[in-house]
Amino acid sequence: MPALGLPYIQGALKAAGIEVRLFDLNIEIYERLDPAERDFWDPSHHFIWYEPIDQGRARAVFSRLAAFIDGFLIDAIGPGPVVVGITALATQKFPAFHLAARVKALNPEATVVIGGASCFPQYAPDEIAACPAVDYVVVGEGERAIVDLVGYVGTGARGPVPPGVLRRRNERIEEGGRRPLIRDLDLLPMPDFTGLPLDRYQDRRRIPMMWSRGCVNRCVFCIEHRIWERFRWRSASHIFREIREATERWGAGKIEANDSLFNGNISVLHELGGMLIAEGIHLPWGCEGIIRKEMAPGLLAKLKNAGCGYITYGLESASANVLRLMGKRTDLSVASRVIRDTSAAGILQKVNIMVGFPGETEDDFRSTLDFLTDNRRFLTEVNPSDGFTGIFPGTELYDRHLDFGVTFAPGMHYFWETRDGTNTLATRIERFERVLKHAAAIGLKCTYPGTELLNRDKILGDFHLNRGEHTEALRFYERHSARTGVEPDRIPGYREALR
Ligand code: SF4
Repeated sequence: MPALGLPYIQGALKAAGIEVRLFDLNIEIYERLDPAERDFWDPSHHFIWYEPIDQGRARAVFSRLAAFIDGFLIDAIGPGPVVVGITALATQKFPAFHLAARVKALNPEATVVIGGASCFPQYAPDEIAACPAVDYVVVGEGERAIVDLVGYVGTGARGPVPPGVLRRRNERIEEGGRRPLIRDLDLLPMPDFTGLPLDRYQDRRRIPMMWSRGCVNRCVFCIEHRIWERFRWRSASHIFREIREATERWGAGKIEANDSLFNGNISVLHELGGMLIAEGIHLPWGCEGIIRKEMAPGLLAKLKNAGCGYITYGLESASANVLRLMGKRTDLSVASRVIRDTSAAGILQKVNIMVGFPGETEDDFRSTLDFLTDNRRFLTEVNPSDGFTGIFPGTELYDRHLDFGVTFAPGMHYFWETRDGTNTLATRIERFERVLKHAAAIGLKCTYPGTELLNRDKILGDFHLNRGEHTEALRFYERHSARTGVEPDRIPGYREALR
């Protein structure tokens, strides 16, 4: 599906009278890949884009397509002064840095700006600004900052950097200071998808949008509510305008609400559903939401009539103990009722599951499996997180990990374990794979393919190496090598494990 951030940025720039051209190099590259390489682009292979060894495989794609990429960039940016914005999710940092360097090599007069989700303050945007090919980083919400930044660059980049922007100048990082969040989201221009090849995406004619920003909940493992600080929502009429534009201007056949949660403001949801029904717009749409008691049969029936075909609920666990530890306010009897009512309304539904939260006992874990069994006939799909429970910088769980009985070496938060040793990465991988097997056993569709973690041997090798268990580490690295064809010597931990 097309990206959403850049169309919002394009809309904001055009509304400010700035000429913009928008490109999707990602799909151009994807269409030129060998079929065997296309799994790199599947969400289940996201790890390829983080880890140095796997980035090596991604780098090989970029070097093979170097001539095409350079030609594309030359056509896109031309010679002379131009501001080139590149968006970067966490998985896109490596390609973004690569493109930034190529842009600078092909047009030394270009000003390179990086923005996107990996540039929020919680993700150390100064590391991105330190990349030699990057001139500016837009930190956080971009629609207003990019307009100010283009004006700043266009008038000679003199004086202080605009708020919400970092500048790399003479090996130093200058900070423009904090930019307040946009108070009234209804003032934002509509996203503009001009330039994106809308008929070439895998899920043709699916147009993403965001009806709100932030979350009403405060789950301790999650960064959404910290990134966005507070929950802000758009009015039903503003969302309705965007849906109408998606159909009439962009030819949308379906809509994806990309919010942290689509049901943060129930009265807006009621109003929007009523408007879509009254205007006879029956465009199918899907969304992610929280389980809350307000998801009652009347509202669910209205949403179904208004085109809602699919809801993903962030259940995460079906243990009251774990939900309490997570800071989730879900009542499990409400969860069962909402899942049944969603099914009765004719809406397909998926539940997200996280295994291995600190404090999750074997009994807690089994409660989640039992919940899936009990609700099997109402559920369409289960989506277990292949990050299990990541403890990410910026979250409350990271800040307070000692309170949760968790230890990890600096920078090794993925390898966290509980002080009593009952929950390690190996425990979490084992529970994750048990969810996959359980789903297969009860005939419940699972978002994650197969019954094993795809890069399990590499991760388990790293896990044992991190614990100083070199013989075990070598065993898993060799299995990884045998399965993937990557020479053991090219697996970063392998040589260290040999010592
Ligand atoms: S409900 Fe979802 S988006 Fe909101 S804080 Fe919890 S995990 Fe994050």
